[in-house]
Amino acid sequence: MGIVIIGGGQAGLQSADSLRTEGYTGEITVVADEPGLPYQRPPLSKDYLTPGKEALPLPLRGEAFFTDKDITLLTGAAATGIDRTARTVSLEDGTMLPYERLILATGTRNRTLGCSGAELPGIHSLRTLADAQTLHAALPTARNVVVIGAGFIGLEFAAAARAHGCNTTVLEFAPRPMCRALTPLMGDWFAGAHEHLGIDLRLSEGIDRFEAGEHGRVATAVSTTGASYPANLVVVGIGVLPNDILAIEAGLETENGILVDAQLRTSDPGILAVGDCANFPHPRAGGHIRLESVQNATDQARHAARTIMAAAGGQAEANPYADLPWFWSTQGPYRLQMAGLARPEDDTLVLGDPAAAKFSVLCFPDGILAAVESVNLPADHMAARKLLAGSARLSRQEAEAEGFTLKAAAKSLLNALA
Ligand SMILES: Cc1cc2nc3c(=O)[nH]c(=O)nc-3n(C[C@H](O)[C@H](O)[C@H](O)COP(=O)(O)OP(=O)(O)OC[C@H]3O[C@@H](n4cnc5c(N)ncnc54)[C@H](O)[C@@H]3O)c2cc1C
Repeated sequence: MGIVIIGGGQAGLQSADSLRTEGYTGEITVVADEPGLPYQRPPLSKDYLTPGKEALPLPLRGEAFFTDKDITLLTGAAATGIDRTARTVSLEDGTMLPYERLILATGTRNRTLGCSGAELPGIHSLRTLADAQTLHAALPTARNVVVIGAGFIGLEFAAAARAHGCNTTVLEFAPRPMCRALTPLMGDWFAGAHEHLGIDLRLSEGIDRFEAGEHGRVATAVSTTGASYPANLVVVGIGVLPNDILAIEAGLETENGILVDAQLRTSDPGILAVGDCANFPHPRAGGHIRLESVQNATDQARHAARTIMAAAGGQAEANPYADLPWFWSTQGPYRLQMAGLARPEDDTLVLGDPAAAKFSVLCFPDGILAAVESVNLPADHMAARKLLAGSARLSRQEAEAEGFTLKAAAKSLLNALA
């Protein structure tokens, strides 16, 4: 009956690819509700919107991939239901796809604002290629841009808008940008960096309402402090929700996404979930966590393929999924890279020069390195990934030594373990 994958994003396509790499020879069908070839999302809020760069986002796989690997890609096709007893997936157009194993790679959808005026023309979100194309067309003539939410996507967009010469204001109700994911030290540094770019970053200030101008389009954003900001283009970047409706309706266990075990199996072992939609146990998180990153989507997809192949071949289970989380975000001239999971309360050590926008923040929750955040230091990031992925343990004392560098530490610790 083959394997059906719902979702044609990073996790869905990597699942299909990895199943073939692992030797699966049966039918593979990817059900993708967006039109056209699946594409990379990260450039949508970065290069694609930045004047002078603006290259169209690349497809995740070219057309030849699907024919060469004998993978059926159904585009513009939404899955509407899962019958776990009959083992079928129903599509919007009435098609029924039988499955032997099912992979849910449905990703997330953007949170929306419920405030007055949130539906006015000129207010956008940013997740799909279509969203990015709308913003790409609007930016060159936009004058006053307001961004709601100082998360990664909001700040990437704000930097692009500023590079277009727009007056750019960001409203964030938290006291610090990107505060769910970054150490306070790094969050504060980015607050200063955006101000340096000329962005008006308003912290501890949320959106109260939008008001329309003469033509019925958004003209003003009024914040929770009562301040008014002129706005002819607004982007709402206030986070995402997991696409878990199909799973809920099929009776699978969900909680902040689709719950899976360490082999990425849902509460029905014939169905796996991977990527942004999956809430999984991770040793570094001390429990379940849901991550929204290319690394997580890709590595989980590879792991799910191994889980399926091990079960099909009657082999022992693979090791639990425990790949090192890493992430990047480009905000104007600042390239942020993170390895591991930083916590706000972590003890931190700074290497490099924050004033020159080249530095790393090392996090030591229990005196041992657990995460590294780097700005414009890709060599530090790569070294951190090597150090953190292996069993090497680097203490704060070692990192404080005269002349210490992450690169040298990665080399010597890994040599010692070899
Ligand atoms: C603008 C933007 C910038 C980003 N930048 C970065 C970055 O710099 N670094 C980084 O690591 N990550 C970044 N991310 C996050 C990264 O893109 C996601 O973590 C990754 O795409 C997750 O892959 P996924 O396959 O789990 O989900 P998605 O990419 O969301 O793919 C899921 C797909 O499933 C489809 N789908 C959902 N339900 C159904 C259904 N019922 N039937 C059929 N299809 C369905 C969805 O429409 C979607 O196409 C960014 C995301 C965005 C939006």
